[in-house]
Amino acid sequence: MTEQSAPSVTVIDHPLVQHKLTLLRSRSTPTPTFRTILREVSMLLAYEATRHLPLELVAIDTPLERTQSAMLADKKLCLVSILRAGNGLLDGMLDLIPSAHVGHIGLYRDPVTLAAIEYFLKLPDDVATRQAIVVDPMLATGHSAVAAVERLRRAGVTEMRFVCLLAAPEGIATFHRRHPDVPVFTAAVDRQLDERGYIRPGLGDAGDRLYGTR
Ligand code: URA
Repeated sequence: MTEQSAPSVTVIDHPLVQHKLTLLRSRSTPTPTFRTILREVSMLLAYEATRHLPLELVAIDTPLERTQSAMLADKKLCLVSILRAGNGLLDGMLDLIPSAHVGHIGLYRDPVTLAAIEYFLKLPDDVATRQAIVVDPMLATGHSAVAAVERLRRAGVTEMRFVCLLAAPEGIATFHRRHPDVPVFTAAVDRQLDERGYIRPGLGDAGDRLYGTR
């Protein structure tokens, strides 16, 4: 794992993540397999993105004696999926963090300007008291990620992390210009964004690959 100084981008270069990422990139990986592997990878991404969570010692009884053992001090997390591809990362993360609550933000890219337009929002009532982990497999132009984090700030969220599978250098730059305090976790930073806003070499359209829509 490579941690760069602020603004922070953590590239999760664990061999299992990289192996699974290659399967996800391959055009010959069919939709059901893509979904399964993305779910597996999302657990590994969540594992790294939650490394900072504070622990507290609690008293428990093992079958043999009383002891102090570590538990999460504050389990108040909110996973926020940027629809629709963000949902591909949700279930694996929820397997790992079942107590997290979930929000959804629907954003589509204007095909001409590539700007993010909000069409759906549902957040937990107490989202302002939670740490948010915003998830979207692709940090491409960065517009959706910027808009989602702005929306969460307006909802009162003060601590956020952004987790994706692939990032374009352009997307990271745009995101960190607007939100330098929000750490990004990704499995890879690819070469570039193309003229249609796709990450190269990338994996294609994550939503289409997940749901078989093209
Ligand atoms: N969204 C995707 O699904 N793929 C890309 O390459 C860029 C944005």
